[in-house]
Amino acid sequence: MKNRPEFAPSLICMDLLRAGAQAEVINERAQWFHADLMDLDFVDNAGLGIPFVKAVATVAKRPVDCHLMVRQLDRWLPRAAMAGATMLTPHIEVTGEKTPEVLNKIAALGCKAGLAISPETPVGALVPYLDRVEKVTVMTIRPGFPGAPFLWETVEKIRELRAMRDGRRLGFQIEMDGSLSEENFSALREAGCDVFVAGAAALFARDDDLAKAFDKMEAAFGL
Ligand code: ZN
Repeated sequence: MKNRPEFAPSLICMDLLRAGAQAEVINERAQWFHADLMDLDFVDNAGLGIPFVKAVATVAKRPVDCHLMVRQLDRWLPRAAMAGATMLTPHIEVTGEKTPEVLNKIAALGCKAGLAISPETPVGALVPYLDRVEKVTVMTIRPGFPGAPFLWETVEKIRELRAMRDGRRLGFQIEMDGSLSEENFSALREAGCDVFVAGAAALFARDDDLAKAFDKMEAAFGL
């Protein structure tokens, strides 16, 4: 059984000089805002700034998910929450055995909790926490590098998570993150993906007019 796919446009792929207008289109056409925060440590790249997330959050009518590709969560989580994040999604590679405390902290900040998993980490690392999160984000590229090659082997992780969720009757959503396109959309959906992070290839590069880009993406995906 497949639900209607949800889309989470990746704010780092926006036309930042027209961010306000594009945020309005996202309000109309998508289900989430996806904000990538990076620290030049967990990943060798820099992401969006907290002030930008705050600016988007003030106009967002959809939940703002902060994907935290960062190590120092004690410092990042409160700042992302104060910027207006609805959901905080750190990496299981960072939270490790401290995951229960991190999830408690996210709840104390008044946010929903997700957990992200990098390509090299087995799904088993998430198993003890699947009843405590609202979303699992499966990285389908090497994290930190928008536009990196799609890693087909990660599709199997989505299938595994879907089987675990259905078997245990849990409620978390399954999200893919990285180089979505018409080449992999059907396979991801078939595997059980609920939420699709849409970056340049899927969405933003299709047209300078973001509403038209949404039309083109939906046509390319057969929706
Ligand atoms: Zn992301």
